[in-house]
Amino acid sequence: MSTKTIALPPAKNFINGHLENGLSKTLDVFNPASGEVIAKVPLSGKGELDKAVEAAKAAFPAWSSQTLKERVQVFFRFRTLLEQNLQELTELVSIENGKIYSEAKAEVMKGIELCEFACSLPQIVNDEIQEVSKGVECRTSHCPLGVVACITPFNFPHMVPLWTIPNAIALGNCMILKPSEQTPLSAVRIAELLKEAGLPDGVLNIVNGDKEIVEAICDHPEIEAVSFVGSTRVAKIVYQRATSNLKRCVALGGAKNHLIVLPDAHTEMAATNIAASMSGCAGQRCMAASAMVGVGKIDHIVERLCEVARAIVPGDSLGSVISKEAKERIERYITEAEEQGAKVLVDGRNTTVKGKEEGYYVGATVIDYVKPEMKIAKEEVFGPVLSILRTNDIDEAIRIENSSNYGNASSVFTQNGKMADYVMERVSAGMVGVNIGVPVPREPFSFGGWNESKFGVSDITGKSSVEFWTKLKKRTTKWNPEAWTNWMS
Ligand code: NAD
Repeated sequence: MSTKTIALPPAKNFINGHLENGLSKTLDVFNPASGEVIAKVPLSGKGELDKAVEAAKAAFPAWSSQTLKERVQVFFRFRTLLEQNLQELTELVSIENGKIYSEAKAEVMKGIELCEFACSLPQIVNDEIQEVSKGVECRTSHCPLGVVACITPFNFPHMVPLWTIPNAIALGNCMILKPSEQTPLSAVRIAELLKEAGLPDGVLNIVNGDKEIVEAICDHPEIEAVSFVGSTRVAKIVYQRATSNLKRCVALGGAKNHLIVLPDAHTEMAATNIAASMSGCAGQRCMAASAMVGVGKIDHIVERLCEVARAIVPGDSLGSVISKEAKERIERYITEAEEQGAKVLVDGRNTTVKGKEEGYYVGATVIDYVKPEMKIAKEEVFGPVLSILRTNDIDEAIRIENSSNYGNASSVFTQNGKMADYVMERVSAGMVGVNIGVPVPREPFSFGGWNESKFGVSDITGKSSVEFWTKLKKRTTKWNPEAWTNWMS
């Protein structure tokens, strides 16, 4: 059954302001909620990348010579266009990714917030000036890097490209975007709307593809910096390859987020926040709750959590996962945990949605008595599945969280401020929260995890990204010939 309600943009490359077919193979793109093929995306090769880099290089001198205040005017207009096209952009995210309308809308709204941050950059990027010796001034300026690249995953096809495009471009860079081949359509609308907002041709280019084009980006001698968001396995490959080619790189990887729940937590608040965190976007958020570590007597919270999870309706309040392979992988994790002795309290396996029988759905799943050594306790499941681990000792709960290779997010649920501080100080994660299921820092705070959830120094958004997308020029000037001289003159 067709679920199309809007005209879909073509899944094409966007080079020098124009949509282009790739030269080579294509790959089917699915609507994961219905299982139907909605587009064929080009799997581009080095030839297409070279063309995009040439376009970006040609656009760079004029774009970078504008002032920051001039460049952000494009993003003021783009922000208005995002608002005017909110419904279409929302439906597009929902169609290509499978999330429900309200979640897709929240994603586009977050894109607007990211754009607002870029508009505020002239107020934030403060270059310094100081008289460092008598009559001698030093001044810094943030200079763009040149041609930069951004490689994105399937789970936020609108928002994750906007983590980087507004800041990198407003700061004077020209960009090559490589979206996920599973969700390439939102990126095309972003490029079209930026063009409508007045972005000059060549400043943003899209080259679609898979592994081959990512490797070509990491190797390209004229790309100065690479940002990557995706799984840890690929983040490591990209970080190693890009930096070994002497590029700047920030590569965000996967996650295994732990929520530590104490018996004094507010039952309703904990249950609803945890259920929303583990099932929102079908658990396909790098900030999703994946493991809940209950300390002491928390049965009342688990009971209420299961009631809330059972009330989540696939196809209505729960979207699909991205592919048939993802559904099979998630269900394998559940079955294996059950075989190893864990107890499945709410079972989302074998879920189908009436009228969307070919869609890839997994229902909300809660598994109790998971042991730290089980695969499901250690690996990223990336589905609407919550594992509950139990302990009687807060330090043991923290040790479990600390033993993870990842370190994106962690939260503690308690009404005791001292305990909240104790846990927050000791968990090993970049984004931590109290009584909040998804502790995403909003702009102007930056986004980025620790450990194997991020490789590279800066975060990907917020003020931290300014240092990533620019290099500092330090100017020293002396104009008065009578200036005092000293040992530094
Ligand atoms: P993925 O790693 O499979 O793909 C990400 C990008 O890498 C895509 O553009 C893809 O084409 C490319 N790619 C895939 N395999 C490659 C290879 N072998 N060599 C080079 N490039 C390759 O990730 P995904 O499945 O699209 O997205 C889900 C993952 O992204 C999850 O692990 C999730 O946690 C992570 N993620 C992390 C964050 C974060 O902020 N840390 C945010 C969103 C998603």
